[in-house]
Amino acid sequence: MTTTTTTMPSKNTETAKNGKKRRAHRGQREGERGEQKRTLTTERRNNVKHESEPPKNWEKTLATIKRMRKNGPLAPVDTMGCEKIAETDDKKQKRYRTLISAMLSSQTKDQINHATMNKLIALNKDTAEGILNTTEDDLDEIIHQVGFHRNKAKYLRAAAKICIEKYGGDIPPDLESLVELPGVGPKMGHLIMNVGWEKPSGICVDVHVHRITERLGWVSESCAVTNAGSPRKRTPEDTRVALEKWLPKDEWVEINPLLVGFGQLYCTPLRPKCSECDVVNLCENAFRDAAPKKSEA
Ligand code: SF4
Repeated sequence: MTTTTTTMPSKNTETAKNGKKRRAHRGQREGERGEQKRTLTTERRNNVKHESEPPKNWEKTLATIKRMRKNGPLAPVDTMGCEKIAETDDKKQKRYRTLISAMLSSQTKDQINHATMNKLIALNKDTAEGILNTTEDDLDEIIHQVGFHRNKAKYLRAAAKICIEKYGGDIPPDLESLVELPGVGPKMGHLIMNVGWEKPSGICVDVHVHRITERLGWVSESCAVTNAGSPRKRTPEDTRVALEKWLPKDEWVEINPLLVGFGQLYCTPLRPKCSECDVVNLCENAFRDAAPKKSEA
């Protein structure tokens, strides 16, 4: 005869189960802590510190710079910047001109970029087709005044080919595909999105924005420490990430031409004109890079 017995969980079994649960929870918590630790370790290893708090007096500083720019003389960027060169009622053509002028702009003064763009426009080479129908040597000859013209001629033709094959002669529609074009980096990508597509994607941090925000104390000069423990200088991309953490989005497009012009007129790379600058009392590094006074020289 077979006897069926129902086994009730013993106290020992319950204790073992609870212990297992506690261990599982502990394991999960440790796993989460491990994950957090790993993230922190990665951040520490790269050691990137971005200011997330808005800097003191930034609104007053920005308003003062806006007033200086409004009441002061025109800067080269105001008449010859990428936005101005690209102006036309034809939106597609405006976008392509923005792409070309952004690609030509690195290591090139606004005046030279403007003159070169005017040449391309006059020769009907301000479209993807116009660029691709020109040999690399001829293109190089047309743009020879801009910095790194040989490489830029090559990149312009390669980008035109992609734009024709993939985008019907228009420019790519988003930042990710724009930066896949040869010779286009994030700084240009944001500029093209902001101006060409009129869809702000991020702050365009060029050398002026990078330098001036550091002088003002809006970002620190170094933001990271290398693996060897020495300070790493902030890159323009670091500056972009840091500024986007606190600068309101409706300032993202205007901040570039505002500070570029401010940098061309007052806060110049060498010997900034601090004695003529209205934000001198708000600027953390006023007179740091200015020319020494005659008595000190
Ligand atoms: S005070 Fe000098 S360093 Fe500061 S923003 Fe003005 S010009 Fe630039």
